[in-house]
Amino acid sequence: MKIIGSTYVGNEGSPNAKLWCVGEAPGYYEEQEGRPFVGRAGTLLEDVLRLNGVMRSEVFFTNLLHYRPLDNKFQLALDTQELKDGIAELNSLLKRHSPNCIAAFGGYPCGFLTGHHGITRYRGSILSVRNNPKLKVIPTYHPSYIERNPKYYTIFDNDIRRIVEDSKFPELNIPELEITTNYLDYRDVLLNAKFITIDIETVTGTDIILCVGFAYSPTQSVVVPCDGTFNSNNFISEILASNVPKGAHFGTYDKTVLILNKYTINNYIHDTIIQAHVLAPELPKSLAYLTSIYTRIPYYKSAGRENIPSKDEVDKVQVVSDQKSWPAKRNKQELYIYNGTDCCATYQVFMAQQEELKDDTDHVRIYEYEMEMVQIAIEFGLEGIRVDEGRRSILRTLIYKKFTANQMALELLTGEKPNVNSPKQMKELLYEKLNLPKRMYKKKVTTNDDALVSLITYCKGKALEVKKEDTKKEYSKKLYIIKLVRELRGVNKMIGTYIDFKVSDDGKARSIWKAHAAETGRWGAELFIDDTGISLMTTPRESLDDGQPE
Ligand code: URA
Repeated sequence: MKIIGSTYVGNEGSPNAKLWCVGEAPGYYEEQEGRPFVGRAGTLLEDVLRLNGVMRSEVFFTNLLHYRPLDNKFQLALDTQELKDGIAELNSLLKRHSPNCIAAFGGYPCGFLTGHHGITRYRGSILSVRNNPKLKVIPTYHPSYIERNPKYYTIFDNDIRRIVEDSKFPELNIPELEITTNYLDYRDVLLNAKFITIDIETVTGTDIILCVGFAYSPTQSVVVPCDGTFNSNNFISEILASNVPKGAHFGTYDKTVLILNKYTINNYIHDTIIQAHVLAPELPKSLAYLTSIYTRIPYYKSAGRENIPSKDEVDKVQVVSDQKSWPAKRNKQELYIYNGTDCCATYQVFMAQQEELKDDTDHVRIYEYEMEMVQIAIEFGLEGIRVDEGRRSILRTLIYKKFTANQMALELLTGEKPNVNSPKQMKELLYEKLNLPKRMYKKKVTTNDDALVSLITYCKGKALEVKKEDTKKEYSKKLYIIKLVRELRGVNKMIGTYIDFKVSDDGKARSIWKAHAAETGRWGAELFIDDTGISLMTTPRESLDDGQPE
């Protein structure tokens, strides 16, 4: 079977245009018309460009590949001569022309042009062509992805706005950050600052602080290394306890860890995650995302995170301070730069959000309210809830009884000993043994909960529809088996998450509470800093009878 079409779809527009749009490959309509970006995705792109002030005729459109791949599956074309030719053509054009900005649509154009992989991470970042640091590239989602996932439209629109703005000048204009670990020289600067942002890095899953960073301007930050020798650093204590107004990104986490390390934090009055929640509760709120929207700092998270030591490296981190004895592959200096970058990014995001909030008294009122909630959330989390071990033991007995009853029923009905948490065994049971129609997720066969719900509906329908009594019974039995599988998975989840959770040494269960979690304003919760505790927001409330599915 031919995996590549034979109709050549060329470029459109002038390569002297200030703005280039680089896609993957033509689709059905492009192949029909012999022009790039004329199908549904192309029309969407054209509309969004126009809404941001640019007409199609002002843009140069091209693709990595000039032939339509089978079923529009670009990955099928990865090893083809046609793709090599397309890329060679693009490289040759790039040698002869210098657009101000190249928009790369989707992961493949982003990867080919910049060498950076992962469109969700790199979208919105101001990057450059791999071997030409002066040629600016801004990747974003592919418009056909937006067609299929309209919830990302706002982000796409934001990226296109940046692309259009950036096509007016060739410079990358990446802000230079000044990050220093010579913290002692900056005591007065920090104590006299009008506002500072704070961020800490910890050994993953612990409250062991590796460094505390403070930004005193959008581009300047000071990082104080800790090496696990927390509690003893007067510099950190002094800055944190001072009345200098402070901001953070999800400072609930930072403040909780700092309090556990006996620090006092005064005047923590701003938080970018809370501002994000107030301004756009339906959109992502991670610092990486907000940085891509509100700042010109390119994506920096993956490099930084690689340098955070994990729990099993904790001994090394606690006893040493020189890089040589630090865990291999973890670079301290890089970690400090990462921490300082986080502080500056938070500062820049904060200022841009403040600009949006300005004069919007309703939003400001909600923001102030949510910031009050944050302080309560921190105290609530630290306080924890005493675990009634007697009660826990009763619940455990009851739930195991329920588990045993359901598992026995499942074994009786199937003649096997299936493990409902094994995707392999469940695929065999549902799709081979019971011969049910396969359910897919992201192009793969799945037995996830949605699949079970859909199969329940399918079996119910069949049981009603078929005439023969035996076939009716057969579908009723299948229905019962699927219900048992769901029930057992629920029981397993209940045991693992809500009964056998880890309790703190003082016998309490704790959560990190998030005032920014849901669009509705409802709080959310997750496990505590040290991975003990429970998400107390979602504890089940139903009674624990030992019944089986109806
Ligand atoms: N998608 C692309 O990547 N290119 C086109 O030309 C059309 C849709």
